[in-house]
Order: sequence, then structure tokens, then C-alpha cells
Amino acid sequence: MSNWAIKCANLVGETGLYRLLCPGCLPVFMIHRIKEVDQPREGVTAIQLRCYLQYLAKQGFKVLSMDELWQHLSEGRKIPSKAVMFTIDDGFFHYQNVAARIFDEFGFPLNFFVITGMLDQKIWPWDHQVTYAFEHSAASHAEIHFPSGVVYSVNLDKRDAVTTMRAVRSALKTEPQGGIYGWMKAELYPKLEVDFPSDIPEEYRPMSWDDARSLRTRGHGVYPHTQSHRILSMLSLAEKREEIRGSLKRVVDELAYIPQVFAYPTGRLGDYDGRDIEELKQTGFSMAFNTVAAYVMQGQDHYQLPRFSLPEDSEDFLQIINRFEALKQTLRR
Ligand SMILES: [Zn+2]
Repeated sequence: MSNWAIKCANLVGETGLYRLLCPGCLPVFMIHRIKEVDQPREGVTAIQLRCYLQYLAKQGFKVLSMDELWQHLSEGRKIPSKAVMFTIDDGFFHYQNVAARIFDEFGFPLNFFVITGMLDQKIWPWDHQVTYAFEHSAASHAEIHFPSGVVYSVNLDKRDAVTTMRAVRSALKTEPQGGIYGWMKAELYPKLEVDFPSDIPEEYRPMSWDDARSLRTRGHGVYPHTQSHRILSMLSLAEKREEIRGSLKRVVDELAYIPQVFAYPTGRLGDYDGRDIEELKQTGFSMAFNTVAAYVMQGQDHYQLPRFSLPEDSEDFLQIINRFEALKQTLRR
């Protein structure tokens, strides 16, 4: 659709027509990162995020908490047509500091899925370690031996660096994950001629458990997102257990409550499997989120609830919020 047609469709969306045509579908957004205005990375800026929340407040949208979503799903109650929910993954200090404060301004809840090893100040996520390595590499070419033995030849020309980094990060998700952290130090960083940082770099600084407790007292949710962010489908049963049960235990110990919601690392359909879902059920979780771009609806598998990435383009945001996207998905079906 042209920009003009999308703008028109969004104006119609504001009347509530699409919500009327597509009732009972809830957009749950996943915020990747809050970036500075001049950063060339993915993510929304703090200014954009505030604009989105201003729009929701002005239009009278209800921003649901996780408990409210569970009440609707477990009791089979109709999901309100003017509702929305927000999540943010991993547990970086910057998110806690910037995103949560913006949500606080509006009194809206934000749901954090945290890598517990990060809050324990032990690790920073392997996928972000890949980003850091590529951003700091001065090499022009590298032959990278992946954990499976496959050799990946990469051109580090600056013009293609972001595309190359994303391709490597994506390819690594289907590689054996057991020793991924050791592999970074032993293979990726030396090949890209980058010194592995002795301390966690400031931009990847984790929030603390005190920060997490503060979030909960301010009405936000904090839930586990594994211990180390390794891709669950690429782990052994024992490793899956350790990631799921271990992260649950850390949240219980530190926050003194039993969380019942989980989010799969990176969350694409192949990034978790039926054994992970079974493990979540046995461990007492009631809901889990992936990252498939779709609306949450009544009758869905509670262990595979989808989420939209929070769009950087406000017209895309409006399409999802006002359910024009739901109408398009219905027509496609
Ligand atoms: Zn994550």
C-alpha cells in the first residue's frame, strides 16, 4: 500500500471501525531497545515511545498488565477491543531506566522478561556479544569456524557490516548452543580481531535485582527469560531444564513471588520446541510468549502467545493498534 493509502486507512482506524470488524484480538508489543536519536540501530527512540503512549492515553486505550491478560485468557472472557500490552526483553539497565520511566509518566504497566544470569551480573547476552564484536572489528575479512564445524567466510566491508552481522547472528541461532559463550572468546573475537571486554560494556549494562524489585513496586511485571539467552531448541533436555528452572528459581529467590509467565529467547517458531513447552507446564508456568508477529486471541495456545515488534514507523504502529493489521490478516486467511 502507498503511504497515502496507509494514512487514510489509519484515519478510518481511529473511528474504531476495524476494532468493530475484528473483535477480541490483542496486540502485545515487544520493545527491542530504546535507542538514542542519532544511533543507526534498530529500535524506537524515547521520544517515539512517549508519542505512542500519549496517543494511547488520549484515545482511551487500556494498557493491560500480565495478570489482567491471564484473567481474560483463563476465564475465557472477551478481550477488550481497545486494549494493548507491552513487553521488553533481556534486562538491560538502559531499558529499566528509560522505558520504565516513560511508562511511569502514564501509569501504564510494562512487562520485563529478564535473563537472570544478566541480573546476577554474570553475563551479557551472546547475541549482543556478536553485535559488539562486529561493531568494533577493524578486520576486512574473516573465516569463522562455527560451533558445528561449518566455516563461514565474512566480508567486513563497512557498507555490508550490519547485514553481515545480522546474517552471522541469525546463523548462530541454529548452531549447537551449549558452549556458545566460550566460542565467542575462543573463536569469534580473535577472528574479528577484537579484544573481549574484561567488563560488561556500559551500553549492555544489566539492571540489578534491586532495579527489578523497584519495577515491581511501581506496578511493572518481571518474568524469567532463561538464565543465559541460549536458544532452547538447540540445547539438551538437561540444559533446557537448567535454563527454565534455574531462571524461575532466581526470580522466586530475588523477588519473593512465583512468576507464571515466560518468554523464549529470540522466540521464532524454531527457537523452542514441544519439550520446552512441556517443561514450562511441569514447572508451573501458565503462559509463554514467542515473537511471531500476530495478535493474541482467545483459544490460542497459552504457551505460544505471539508478539509484534514495536514498530519504528508510527503509521505501522497505528495499523496494529487500531486493528487494521487484524483486518488484513483476516482477509489474507
Ligand atoms: Zn531476549
